[in-house]
Amino acid sequence: MNPKQRIILQEMGFQLWELRSGPAAGGTQAPAAPRPAVEPAFARAAGVTPAAASRTAVASMDWAQLAQAVQDCRACELCMHRHQAVLGVGDQQADWLFVGEGPGAEEDARGEPFVGQAGKLLDAMLAAIDLRRGENVYITNAVKCRPEGNRTPHAEELAACKPFLLRQIALLQPRLIVLLGKAAVHGVLGGGDSLAALRLKRHALGEIPVLVTYHPAYLLRNLPEKAKAWEDLCFARRAIQGGGGN
Ligand code: URA
Repeated sequence: MNPKQRIILQEMGFQLWELRSGPAAGGTQAPAAPRPAVEPAFARAAGVTPAAASRTAVASMDWAQLAQAVQDCRACELCMHRHQAVLGVGDQQADWLFVGEGPGAEEDARGEPFVGQAGKLLDAMLAAIDLRRGENVYITNAVKCRPEGNRTPHAEELAACKPFLLRQIALLQPRLIVLLGKAAVHGVLGGGDSLAALRLKRHALGEIPVLVTYHPAYLLRNLPEKAKAWEDLCFARRAIQGGGGN
């Protein structure tokens, strides 16, 4: 670790002596509870059209078409309360793709993912492994519209937004996808395993390796877990460099 990384890690709140500790099971966020699909009456009243984000239509879009489709999307209830949809930000040729949960209030207002407190921590996490937002890094969320009150997106909202995320991945062709937190894991990999069980393992979406770590907002609430996130980031860096992994 170089001195700059050491300073960044200290700013992130790491106790550096903890960084050499071995893997350990960690706390997890509650899984997004499955809920009934949007009721037809509500859907009609709201102009919510569950077919809007259909896989086939989205699968051939270019970036501009995708951005427009996301802004126009009314495939789930989240469209009712957004100021704008938030597609993502960064280098469209990036090797690294980071996927969070969904926009918060600041992201909804500014149209960019991870610009609030969690975003500051994400930027520090990126810097710790010599990455910078926009440079070989693309950042997006599992859902593109803000869940009211920053609640966890529901299973059907993750499903409705998935075609957009899959198209982003197809356009980006990243070398590595890092999922930040449980909702991103549900949105991309599915399944109900805990984050503790999934981290430090190599998963895959087609040919693309997928790794899992804690969401920065979770880390802000659970400072001791930052050491594990650092371990995950080192694992990710080794994975993209072609190094070991499970
Ligand atoms: N949390 C997320 O998951 N995404 C954001 O864009 C901001 C906060």
